[in-house]
Order: sequence, then structure tokens, then C-alpha cells
Amino acid sequence: MTISRRKVLLAAGATAAAGAAGVELRIRSLGAEPPAPPLRGPGDRLLWRNWSGTEASYPALRAGPTSEDEVLSAITTGPAPVRVVGAGHSFTGLVPTDGTLLSLDGLSGIVDHDPTSHQATVLAGTRLGELGAALAAVGQCMPNLPDINKQSLGGAIATATHGSGVNSPALHAQVLSMRIATPALGILECSRTEHPEIFDAARVGLGAFGVVTRYRLQNVPSIRLLKRVELRPTAEVLEDWPSIRARHRNAEFFALPFTGMSATVTHDETDRPAETRVAPQDSQVLLDLKWLRDWAGFSNWLRRRLAQSAMSSLKPEESVEEAWKLLSNERDIRFNEMEFHLPREEQITALREVLAAIEARRPDVFFPIEVRSIAPDDAWLSPFHDRESGSLAVHAYYKDDYKFLFELIEPILRRHGGRPHWGKLHSLTARELSALYPRWKDAMDVRQTLDPAGRLLNPYLRRLLHDV
Ligand SMILES: Cc1cc2nc3c(=O)[nH]c(=O)nc-3n(C[C@H](O)[C@H](O)[C@H](O)COP(=O)(O)OP(=O)(O)OC[C@H]3O[C@@H](n4cnc5c(N)ncnc54)[C@H](O)[C@@H]3O)c2cc1C
Repeated sequence: MTISRRKVLLAAGATAAAGAAGVELRIRSLGAEPPAPPLRGPGDRLLWRNWSGTEASYPALRAGPTSEDEVLSAITTGPAPVRVVGAGHSFTGLVPTDGTLLSLDGLSGIVDHDPTSHQATVLAGTRLGELGAALAAVGQCMPNLPDINKQSLGGAIATATHGSGVNSPALHAQVLSMRIATPALGILECSRTEHPEIFDAARVGLGAFGVVTRYRLQNVPSIRLLKRVELRPTAEVLEDWPSIRARHRNAEFFALPFTGMSATVTHDETDRPAETRVAPQDSQVLLDLKWLRDWAGFSNWLRRRLAQSAMSSLKPEESVEEAWKLLSNERDIRFNEMEFHLPREEQITALREVLAAIEARRPDVFFPIEVRSIAPDDAWLSPFHDRESGSLAVHAYYKDDYKFLFELIEPILRRHGGRPHWGKLHSLTARELSALYPRWKDAMDVRQTLDPAGRLLNPYLRRLLHDV
């Protein structure tokens, strides 16, 4: 989220209201840290945990290969299940293993690049933030980026990570070819012409087809973007959304529950020189929204009124920077997240239902709902396969209960034809997923050829891919 407003929600009004009532009106206390698993597990093995803290395991073996041969050796000889981890930023159980945990941090950086075609070969362990700087040094940038840039390239591509823009597909759409180490067939180079069925099946592959060691990427020449953030009434933004998303290179908005307000964020190419940026205030804004939840959450009316009066004087903000610096943000307040990708025409109807459900039943929610657009592509397990998509992402503060995402939000998103983000919370298993993906069976046949013994499958992936 990039609302970038200092103290959006001024405390004074709510404090006065609570004080005047003369009672303790907080609906939440400061909240306790969720229980943490022990640092050492069975056999004195060291804990692995994901970013949000919901997934954990104690791998028997940790491998940090620095060559393709070492990757292949780890996946063929290491104790199963063999799971590759990027930055551990997925919310689901894709990574945990009691067998072998493989990190590609030792396979990082640009291998080569072509200044004419703006193509580059990049090792799969490269973090997106480091890649941005390295590509800029050779005059290239990725056409689009997700909300943060901490992910590894391999992890981001394997889960169909995306940014926003009606003409901007997810990151895996810029892959021209890739090298993948597989348990049964060794190391393969694949592209649209070489092993095309593996290319189509394994590009968004969840580390269940093999471990990708490098990608050839189609980038674009370095560009500067003008970013504009504006707070507007949600009712207006919902009406204008088709026009907003069509007018800008990248557009998204954050609907702020219980406030009637939304923050639109747009990016467009510009020749304007880069400007010194004011430090982003997103985390402060989130804390202010939380503060409002804590002190005024007992009354939707009061919460909305306080929010609107605090936001009414805020002016739109603009910044100009190189694309790779501007498209991603810092997210230092942890959360859990569910995101579904819907047919684009369903997006706003579904959002109205989600907002109504939250405002009727979940006064504890204070995180904004993120609304984005993604262009179609043809990877078999891409949630954007063959359809223009509009995504909705609902977040829960990491100290708060997030089960409502499954009970209240997921049924709405499914009813509108949503496909879940592979790296974010959802409850679907192979039975439901196979009905959402026209090439599901073809993809599973390829998976079976590459990993017939199921060495790459942890229990979560078995449910996700096989238990039909
Ligand atoms: C704060 C935050 C913000 C986010 N913002 C966005 C966003 O804007 N847009 C979006 O779409 N998603 C977003 N995500 C989700 C995130 O991009 C995905 O979950 C992504 O997979 C995380 O990358 P990672 O490197 O941490 O991968 P991990 O979580 O470590 O791994 C994810 C999957 O990729 C597999 N994998 C990793 N490396 C390889 C490889 N070399 N070969 C084959 N498989 C591999 C793993 O086995 C696993 O199945 C966000 C997540 C967080 C925590």
C-alpha cells in the first residue's frame, strides 16, 4: 500500500470521543505476539519459518548449492521431500519440509545481457530488489514489479507473482526460456520451441516440477515513472475504476474499510527528472488505521466520521523515480493475506460484497483491501491463464485472527470465479483447482514425468496437486 500520508487519522477526535464516554472503549488490546515454535526441533534440527510466521518446519538437510550440478545432486539424493525456498515470503505451506530444504541464495546475479534486445539471463536465486539495481546498471528494467521486491526471482515466478496494469501480465510472462533441474530427467533447457510442454507446465511450477536455476527474461529499456497517490471516496473510485485502469500504465487502489475512502495509486512513464522522495509513510498510516480500529472500532459511524474528517484535507502526492525503485514498497508491518484473481468484470461486484461483509461482521479489520488488474498469459498453471483478471487481496494484521479470510471472504471470491494466488492463503485442493484450470491434467502429466516418485511433494503440495 502506498497511501503516503503522515497521520491520516488524527488521534485527537477519537481520544476526545472515548474520553467523553468515560469508559474503556477499546475493542482490542495491544495484542500478543502469536506463539512461536521452538528454534530447535526433533534431532536438534533448526527451525525454518515463513515471513508471516504461519508456516514452519525442521528440515533434516539444508543445502545451499552454488552450481546446477549441486542443485541436481541435492534434489536427487537429499532426503525427501525436497523443497526449494526463495525468500520465504509465501503465506501457504509450499515450502515446509522435514527432508531437504534448498536455498538458491548462492545462485544469484545476471549471467549475461543483450543491450539491443533488452534480454538478460538471470540466476533464479536473485532477489528482485538486487535485480532491479543490476538491470539498471545495464540500461534495463523489468516491465512490472509486485508490491515488494524482497522475493527471489524463482519464487516470484513459480507462484505467478504480479503487479498491476491492464496491459501488464504477471512476471512469468517475461520468461523466454529457463533451465530446470528435475528428479527424473536431469537438467533441461525449455522454451516455446524446446520442451514447450515443460515450459508451459513448469513456468508457474511451485517448485513441484523441478528447481529452476536460471531464466532468460525479456526486459524493457530503463524507464522513469510518475507515481500519483490520491485519496478519494470509495463510491467514486468504484464508479471510475474502468476508466482509471484504462488510462494509466499501472493502476491499483486500496479500499480502506470503515472509512468510505480509497487510495488510488497510478504510475505512468515520464521524462520528468527524478525527484527526491519524501520517505513513504505507509507503515505510519497502517498504525493510524489500527489506532482508529482500537479506539473507535466499537462504532462504525464514529470510525468513518473520524477517518473522513482526518483525510479531507489531504492533497494528492506525486513522485518521479526509476521504475524499479518506485513500483515496489517497503512492508515492515507483518500480515497474513488472501488474494484471488477474478474475471475482470466480476471484480467490483465482489469488492462491494467483501467490503459489506467486513463492515457488517469484522470490526477488527483495519488493513486496506488491494485491488489490481493483470493481463492474461498462457502458462498452464497461471491464475491469469487465458483471462483478463482483476484481483482482490484482503489482509489481516499478523497478531490478529485471520480465519475470517477462509470463512467470510473466500466464499465470496470463489462465487465470483476467483482463482487463488498460489503463494497466498486459500483452502482449495486439487479437486476444486482442477476445475479452474483448463490445462490442469496436462500439467499434472508433465509433473508426473519429471518427478514420478513425488520427491518434490510435501503434504501440502500433495493435497494441492494430487488428491482429486
Ligand atoms: C509483504 C508481501 C508482499 C507481497 N506482494 C505481492 C505482490 O504484490 N504480488 C504478488 O503476486 N505476490 C505478492 N506476494 C507474494 C509473493 O510474491 C509470493 O508468495 C512469492 O512466491 C514469494 O517469493 P519467495 O522468493 O519468497 O518464494 P518462496 O515463498 O520462498 O517460495 C514460493 C514457491 O516458489 C518455489 N520456488 C522458489 N524458488 C524456486 C526455483 N528456483 N525453482 C522452482 N520453484 C521455486 C518454492 O518451492 C515455493 O513453492 C507478497 C508477499 C509478501 C509477504
